[in-house]
Amino acid sequence: MQTSFTPAQLADPHIATSEQILRKCVHCGFCTATCPTYVTLGNELDSPRGRIYLIKDMLENDRPADEEVVTHIDRCLSCLSCMTTCPSGVNYMHLVDHARVHIEKTYKRPLGDRLVRAVLAAVLPYPGRFRLALKAAALGRPFASLLKRIPPLKPFGTMLDLAPSKIALASAADTPGTHRIDGVKRGRVAILSGCAQPVLRPEINEATLRLLARLGIEVVVPEGAGCCGALVHHMGREEQALDAARRMVDAWLKVKEEGGLDAVIITASGCGTTIKDYGHMLRLDPAYAEKAAQVSALAKDITEYLASLDLPALERKTLTVAYHSACSMQHGQKITTAPKLLLRNAGFTVRDPGEGHLCCGSAGTYNILQPEISEKLKARKVRNIEATKADIIATGNIGCITQIATGTVIPILHTVELLDWAYGGPKPAMLEKVR
Ligand code: SF4
Ligand code: SF4
Repeated sequence: MQTSFTPAQLADPHIATSEQILRKCVHCGFCTATCPTYVTLGNELDSPRGRIYLIKDMLENDRPADEEVVTHIDRCLSCLSCMTTCPSGVNYMHLVDHARVHIEKTYKRPLGDRLVRAVLAAVLPYPGRFRLALKAAALGRPFASLLKRIPPLKPFGTMLDLAPSKIALASAADTPGTHRIDGVKRGRVAILSGCAQPVLRPEINEATLRLLARLGIEVVVPEGAGCCGALVHHMGREEQALDAARRMVDAWLKVKEEGGLDAVIITASGCGTTIKDYGHMLRLDPAYAEKAAQVSALAKDITEYLASLDLPALERKTLTVAYHSACSMQHGQKITTAPKLLLRNAGFTVRDPGEGHLCCGSAGTYNILQPEISEKLKARKVRNIEATKADIIATGNIGCITQIATGTVIPILHTVELLDWAYGGPKPAMLEKVR
């Protein structure tokens, strides 16, 4: 694609990066067929190619974002299915990230929208606040349908619907410190405790710690860690996201200095995609560019790491698992086979739901901010999963777990919970009623 940025515009390194991305796009439109919003809405402006044109026009003309651009960029899930499909290697992720920052800087959203976004950015990345908010949500749930009838308050109603009825206590698995191993030490890793996941499903990191301990891997939960910044990054709140990234880089590199580090383990693929991009996000910060690139190189999804440990093959079980590959896993990190191979090796029969490339509609805060599109995508995803007639659903991202769980009665777990059970851990409570 030809571009016409001026030399003065290209002196801005963000514009220079976006220009390089834009020039790779050859308008072929292959990406439209696999874009969930184009498939759902049928509007070219809700396709990757349409959004690329909108972003190009806005940046080239140095224009503040307008309502049209904001509408179509807000509807993008950042699922990155388009990047898997694109034959020209267009880095849509970095382009849309730039567009979201530009929107945040130049567009004044309506009051209700600003309020919802401010609440999400102030609550979700902080486990203590999030836990309190969920307790309050339990009291507010009877008002969910009322709130959903008032357009500016609809996202608050959706939040109440998504909030779980039971909230687990804070888990020891997320307390800073070194978790000791059983037997001979084979390795040392740090883990991302995260923000929303330890509140919604502490069982995931508990299972990770148990399994790694049995495999001889020492796990460090670093001091001073927290949210990786992915949630606010996708909202265009770049300073908040970069601050979170710097804090995480410092926390993990301190662990490395103190005793070496084989990997930074991530159990939520949405976070993994962002952490693997820290090197790019902080490339213009002289104090952090090199350190962030080091952390990105150390970052591994738990299934990616387990695949390197040669787990023994186990006897065939009677349970069938529908494996839902989160967008951030398959498109963001290009991890497609490791989770399924691990499950098969552990004795489970694994089935692939149809249309596996399409997003479930969770996408960070998307299910709160774009509930109509999100609901349609969830219904489509659940139909495809239920058609597999599997006993259990496995996936690697807390957002997908929360989203899909509200649409089906099939138990949905993190892949590592099933692996921990198969390799000697306790049976997950959710499976007590499953044969
Ligand atoms: S990231 Fe997903 S929703 Fe956004 S344009 Fe690409 S395929 Fe479409
Ligand atoms: S597939 Fe790639 S090159 Fe083709 S229109 Fe989409 S982004 Fe552009």
